[in-house]
Amino acid sequence: MRAIRFHRHGGPEVLACEDVPEPAIAAGEVLVRVRACALNHLDLWARRGLEHVAIPLPHIPGSDVAGEVAASAAEGIGVGRRVMVQPGISCGCCTACLGGRDNECPRYEVLGYLNHDGGYAEFVKVPAQNVVFVPDGVDFVHAAAFPLTFLTAWHMLMTRARLERGDDVLVLAGGSGVGQAAIQIALLHGARVFATAGSDEKVEQARALGAHEVIHHHRHDIAEEIKRLTNRRGVDIVIEHVGEATWSKSVRSLARGGRLVTCGATTGPRGTLELRALFAKQLSILGSYMGTKGELLRAARFFFAGQLRPVVARTFPLADAAAAHRCFEESRQFGKIVLEV
Ligand SMILES: [Zn+2]
Repeated sequence: MRAIRFHRHGGPEVLACEDVPEPAIAAGEVLVRVRACALNHLDLWARRGLEHVAIPLPHIPGSDVAGEVAASAAEGIGVGRRVMVQPGISCGCCTACLGGRDNECPRYEVLGYLNHDGGYAEFVKVPAQNVVFVPDGVDFVHAAAFPLTFLTAWHMLMTRARLERGDDVLVLAGGSGVGQAAIQIALLHGARVFATAGSDEKVEQARALGAHEVIHHHRHDIAEEIKRLTNRRGVDIVIEHVGEATWSKSVRSLARGGRLVTCGATTGPRGTLELRALFAKQLSILGSYMGTKGELLRAARFFFAGQLRPVVARTFPLADAAAAHRCFEESRQFGKIVLEV
């Protein structure tokens, strides 16, 4: 089969289109003919390489897959079914897994990262429990753009921050994959949504998606604008994934009793905390990583009913994965970039 692999870590140029053997499935696994695979920041981290993270080389990246079942060694999953893939892979038999918190499994991994080859290929193998059937009315490009970011944003807002109707929510980088998902999920649950964006075009797109107020973060101080827009109160929830560049502003944007949830540190991993503000304002700082299988199935109901819809900025053919990574790293797009296979 054709696949995009890298044999060493580095820039987009290490992504090579090669002929590789098709994966062989074992009992309980399913072979998916990939039709679309969406890009995520995790793909960039895997390609660049991280200290203390050993990715077996050569490696096929790609966590967000949609396609058709090509072969199945699992009951109830027939060849030809249209599917998308839950990207979190867990052991299925530990306390966390059996407690419905599979993203806390000690053996938790993400498809396309570490030991599991991903979806930048014509075929990918996945455990049967990771398959989600997709209705005919949903195209593969949007199905691939859904799982990872909507799962992440759902877990952050609904499970970690316990979003309630009427909450004020600040979503950083509203045009990012997690950002566009968080805006939609927060609106769906009756929140007032504030978003940030880095260009006039993205400000307009975030508004079009339904954000009530959008802050141009290169022109305005996020925390000052939030104070102005909320009559000095601040917001109940901040969805953080930018890291160092925004951390202190995100903390300063919180109202009393506010919750900051973070799932990433794109601009760097260090942040400071003013401890007096933490206790006096009764703030909660929450970490979040991916989400549970049950949460994805729940979020998918709204997707299939047309109430949530991933924003797809651009598609590229599989062979142009390097160009797709360059485009992603320039971060001018609003929404997801998807490879078509
Ligand atoms: Zn487990």
